[in-house]
Amino acid sequence: MTTATRSSQIPARAVYDRFPLSSLADLARSATMVLSLGLAVLIAAGCGEQRRDSGPAPSRRVVLLGFDGVDPDLVEQWRDKLPNISKMMDAGTFRRLQTTTPPASCTAWSSFTTGLNPGGHGIFDFILRDPKTYLPDRTGAVSHPAEYRFGMFLKKPETFTSTMSGQAFWTVADRAGKRSVVLRVPCIYPLEELEHGYEQGGLGVPDMRGSEGTFHYWSSDLSPRDAADPDLGGKVLSLANAKKVETVIEGPTNPLSESHERLTVALKLEAAGKDALNIEVAGRSETVEVGRWSDWFRIGFQVTPLSTLHGMARFRVLEVEPNLRLYLSPINHDPADPAIVLTQPPSYSKELQRAVGDFKTVGWNHETWGLNEERIDEEAFMQDIWSTFRETEAITMHELEDKKTELLISVFVETDRTAHMMYRLMDPEHPAYDQALAARYGDSIQKTYQRMDEIVGKVVAKLGLNDVLLIISDHGFHSWRRGFNVNSWLIEQGFMTLKGGAKSTERKFLQDVDWSKTQAYALGVGGIYINQQGREGKGIVKAGKEAERVAADIASRLRKVVDPKTSRPVVSEVYLAKDTWKGGRLADGQDMQIGMVPGYRVSSATPLGGAPEGLFEDNKKKWSGDHATSQTSVTEGILLSNLKVGPKSAEDSPSILDLAPTILTLLGVPVPPQYDGRALAVTTATGGQ
Ligand SMILES: [Zn+2]
Repeated sequence: MTTATRSSQIPARAVYDRFPLSSLADLARSATMVLSLGLAVLIAAGCGEQRRDSGPAPSRRVVLLGFDGVDPDLVEQWRDKLPNISKMMDAGTFRRLQTTTPPASCTAWSSFTTGLNPGGHGIFDFILRDPKTYLPDRTGAVSHPAEYRFGMFLKKPETFTSTMSGQAFWTVADRAGKRSVVLRVPCIYPLEELEHGYEQGGLGVPDMRGSEGTFHYWSSDLSPRDAADPDLGGKVLSLANAKKVETVIEGPTNPLSESHERLTVALKLEAAGKDALNIEVAGRSETVEVGRWSDWFRIGFQVTPLSTLHGMARFRVLEVEPNLRLYLSPINHDPADPAIVLTQPPSYSKELQRAVGDFKTVGWNHETWGLNEERIDEEAFMQDIWSTFRETEAITMHELEDKKTELLISVFVETDRTAHMMYRLMDPEHPAYDQALAARYGDSIQKTYQRMDEIVGKVVAKLGLNDVLLIISDHGFHSWRRGFNVNSWLIEQGFMTLKGGAKSTERKFLQDVDWSKTQAYALGVGGIYINQQGREGKGIVKAGKEAERVAADIASRLRKVVDPKTSRPVVSEVYLAKDTWKGGRLADGQDMQIGMVPGYRVSSATPLGGAPEGLFEDNKKKWSGDHATSQTSVTEGILLSNLKVGPKSAEDSPSILDLAPTILTLLGVPVPPQYDGRALAVTTATGGQ
């Protein structure tokens, strides 16, 4: 896999849910996609402080903990190391939880949130393609930049809309007068306004650069590759090799700059011996030793003398001698004074910051990108995992103290991010398996499960007699050893033709496709679209029977694809849209979705429309576990409870779609008729729901 250009870098980390918004903005030059920032002060000032209402505590609370990507097989395998969960497995419930097709986080969490299948909520993948241009955009939050007049005065702050349809079930409960606290549910940003409750944004909240999380990397010894592309794998900057160096941190686009220049803040560095660096930003300095994360630095980007956009980030000194190398985490919006709405009500982020101290606010709140690009090592990544675990735990425990809340939902994603990055170290057959690293970090995923168990134990200790605890994951996990180039396969099979009859291309975004001779194309994590007349910009396949025939032909040939390295079929299911989803957003989804056997995923180049040479490639990257292109029925999540929950029959497994109706029923709120799941039976202390 080449890493020669920025566009070829994107898929390597874009796997399913890692997709920098800024790169798309650069490509498409679309006004609505360019992220800039509004004035924090004005947004915050416009929203009054909401006071927690008094009144009697509910007789029963429903507490739902989400642990992203927790796999039922691994829970069973490590059961004797998970004492709290093991107790629940004996006395309460442990079931496999059916997930969505595809088993991807945003798709599954959107179904959890809205009670609808993807055909209803419209989040089929991490991308949403424009059929007219064939260009992918990111699903979820779409930014509408701040508007300024006369170069100075704010006309309208930055706002966001969502590509997700439907309403969160806790909003339904809120309208019925129920108070919810909803923490970091992925892919629900921008947040719906609540009358009684509180929400904290999770995956989907951008960093200050308007991306999902762009790091800075400075080095006095950049490789020629790094020097040639300053945005390679983050923001890469060159340093002079001296005892004292001055450089800048590049923040958000200046909303007053017509050329989209970025606002910067001065950064002063001075060696403090061989293994430490004195770092100074905006008058605050800290001596940071090699091998640990600094404390939070507050970083203010001044737009005008009257307005500053407030962020915060942490440094990691990688090396002082002989070369100076420094890493800066993505710049988070400061929860104490954010430039965008991070919570509902907006003042809630300040309230949380006062209660528990600083916490990350960017949705993609782990250093997967830095590790995948090998700017930081496993130690840095895992240290950050543990500190982020603590932040989310602190907020969760703080909210558990509030006995007036009837529904508390809190989602931890450390289990998913660690599995993505560390699967290679517990799979000796993985192409990126490394014995020395495995000896040190081979148990990283297991440790996150043990950490989950510890949190479960603490939450259980805080529950009242009648409280219901539900613990779920959105999908399971598999090793990702080999990548399948779907567009290259479509070319080989004659469904796609490149300009000039080429058999492969290094360029992304389907730029070299000859649409007059192309029947189908792949985008996203396992989606295939028919190049349909009247729908696609240059469609050639007639809608109806002809499109169905092409889809059926592709599906039957996909099932026969064999990896020459293992001589085994790799596609176990092909999900046709009409048999898989239903609802008003069906037309926005892929015409078919590939379901692969464990060990396989679509290649890194496929999601953004690349067609490299060859059909298969070893996955040598650190992003080594995945789930989004897997066969749905073998990628289930988990459902755990302190009570007996679920369909009576062991054959009838509960689904992530069942949570919304189950929880509303527990709260005594009528279930909206359009929901696709059903309320599960919950046997409480009083014998029923
Ligand atoms: Zn994941």
